[in-house]
Amino acid sequence: YVVISAYIHRNPKQYNLEGKDGVEAEKKKKIVILGTGWASTSFLKAIDSSDYDITVVSPRNYFLFTPLLPSCTVGTLEHRSIVEPIRYTTRHKPGKVRFVEAECTKIDHESNRITITDSSEIQGEVNSSTIDYDYLVVGCGAETATFGIPGVKEHACFLKEIDHAKEIRRKLSDCLAAATFDGQKSKEQERLLHMVVVGGGPTGVEYAAELHDFLEDDLKKWYPDMAGKFKITLIEAHQHVLASFSKQMINYTESTFKENNIEILNNTMVKEVKERSVVVQNSKKELEEIPCGLLVWAGGNMMRPVVRDLISNFPELQKNRRGVSVNDYLLMNGAQNIFVLGDAAATQYAPTAQVASQQGKYLARVFKGLNKADSEGVKDQAQVIEQMTKNVRPFQYTHNGSLAYIGSEKAIADIPILDTTYSFGGVATSLFWRSAYLSNLFSVRNFWMVVSDWTKTMVYGRDIAR
Ligand code: NAD
Repeated sequence: YVVISAYIHRNPKQYNLEGKDGVEAEKKKKIVILGTGWASTSFLKAIDSSDYDITVVSPRNYFLFTPLLPSCTVGTLEHRSIVEPIRYTTRHKPGKVRFVEAECTKIDHESNRITITDSSEIQGEVNSSTIDYDYLVVGCGAETATFGIPGVKEHACFLKEIDHAKEIRRKLSDCLAAATFDGQKSKEQERLLHMVVVGGGPTGVEYAAELHDFLEDDLKKWYPDMAGKFKITLIEAHQHVLASFSKQMINYTESTFKENNIEILNNTMVKEVKERSVVVQNSKKELEEIPCGLLVWAGGNMMRPVVRDLISNFPELQKNRRGVSVNDYLLMNGAQNIFVLGDAAATQYAPTAQVASQQGKYLARVFKGLNKADSEGVKDQAQVIEQMTKNVRPFQYTHNGSLAYIGSEKAIADIPILDTTYSFGGVATSLFWRSAYLSNLFSVRNFWMVVSDWTKTMVYGRDIAR
C-alpha cells in the first residue's frame, strides 16, 4: 500500500487543466470555492469535477488537520506532518480544477464576481484581481473571537493556524530562555514560567494538556532548577470547561487537570490582556491581575470580515451574528447561487470539523443535482434550484461522537450508539483517540509522518530546539 501510494504521489496523473476542449470548458458552469479547510476540501474531494470548471481560492495552499494542531505547539508533532498541499488534491481531479493562492477580500453577489488579493509577504506587480463565478461556495471558516477585549490581539497567541502553533512554540522557548537568564529574580522566573490558557473549550483544554505533557516529560528534565516554578492556568468564563461534553467527562477532565496541577479558574472572565499579565474578573466578581509569561487565547469563533461584508448586503434575511444563515440545502438565504458551509455558516450544529466535512460531502451531491437540472435545459436559476431540491434530500448531520485529549496519555470520548451516548475516559480512550485521528488523516503519507513523530517523541522526547 505504501509503495503504491508513494508511486501515485510522485507520478500524478496529468489531467488537461484547460478542459477537454476550449468550447466544452466554456459551456461548463464556473464554481469558485473559498477556503481549503475541512468544509471546502471535503467538497472539493467529493465533487464530480468533470461537470464544472472549478477554481479554489485560499491564502493557505494546504489543508490542515486541525484536531492535531495543539500537538504542534510543543513539538509532539511537527507541523509538516499534519498538512497536505491542496494541489495534491486538485491534480488528481479530472476536468479543469485550478488553485489560486490569494485571499478573497470582497464578494460582489450582484455581478457574481469576487475580488482577490495577494496577501503573501513577497508580491509581484499585480497583487489584486477578480474572478467571475456561476456558483460560489463559501467555506472560508471563521477567525478567533476576541470580543473586543483590550490587548488580546496585541499580546495573546491564537491557536487556529500553523503559524500560531509555531509562534507559541517560539514564545515558550523565549520564556524559558528569559527565565534561565543569569541573575533573573525568582519572582520574575515564576512569572515567565506561568502559562495561561484562556477558553475552556476543546482547543484550550487540548492545548493545556499538551503543554502539561511537555513540562512533565521534557522540560523538567532539561531545566531541573526550574521544575518547581512551572505553572499552567486555564481560565474559563462559564461554570465548567468543555460545555459540549457530557457531565461525566467534564468532571473527569477537571479532576485529571487537578491531579496534573493545571489550575482551572472557572467563572472567571478575562477583561484585559497586558504584555506581562492578564486582568480577570474572578468568581467573586473582583478584578485581579495575574502575572504570566505566555498567554494562549482560545475564546471561540467569530465571522471573517469578508463574510460579515457579504451578509451586510442582506439586512432583512441575514441577522445571525455567528455567520451566514443558510437553508436545508446550504444555500445562503437571499441568494440563488451562493452556498455556505463549515464555520462560515450559522446552523443549528456546533462549528466542528465533523459538521464541516459532512456538509462538504453533502454539497457535492447538491451540485450533482444542479448539474442534472442544468443539463435538462432548465434556464431560470430559481427553477434550477427548485428542480435540484426534488432530487436531493436536505442536509442531515450524523454525529459520530466527540473526542478530546486531556494530557498524561488520557483522553475523553462521548460516543453515541443508537439513541444513547456512552462516555469513556482514560488511557485506553487515548489509544482510541490516536487511532481515530490516524484513520481520519487524509493520506498514507501523513499517516506515516504522524506515526513517526509520535514514535520519535516516545523514544527521544520532544525536540526542545527553537
Ligand atoms: P469554544 O467556543 O468551544 O470555547 C471557547 C471558550 O472560551 C468558551 O467556553 C468561552 O466561555 C470561553 N471564553 C470566551 N471569552 C472568554 C473570556 N473573556 N474569558 C474567559 N473565557 C472566555 O472554542 P474552541 O475550543 O476554539 O472550539 C471551537 C469549535 O471547534 C467548537 O465547536 C468545538 O467543539 C470545536 N472543536 C472541537 C474539538 C474536539 O472535539 N476535540 C477540538 C477543537 C475544536
